[in-house]
Amino acid sequence: MLLILGLLIVFIVILVWQPWKRRDCRWRQDARKLADGRVLFTCASCGAEIALPKGREPRECLAGEQ
Ligand SMILES: [Zn+2]
Repeated sequence: MLLILGLLIVFIVILVWQPWKRRDCRWRQDARKLADGRVLFTCASCGAEIALPKGREPRECLAGEQ
């Protein structure tokens, strides 16, 4: 039973973190703020851009998705 519970926890952690999506993105907050209050992040590695609500930071790399 404990083994099954452990496997379940590992499974959930993998689903939440999605480590295969993490690549070499180095997100930097862009000084240019967007008009609607979101903050723009740019990746120094691949040049991807993403706008997120204030207080959040991107976790995934967007390389190859543009
Ligand atoms: Zn990137």
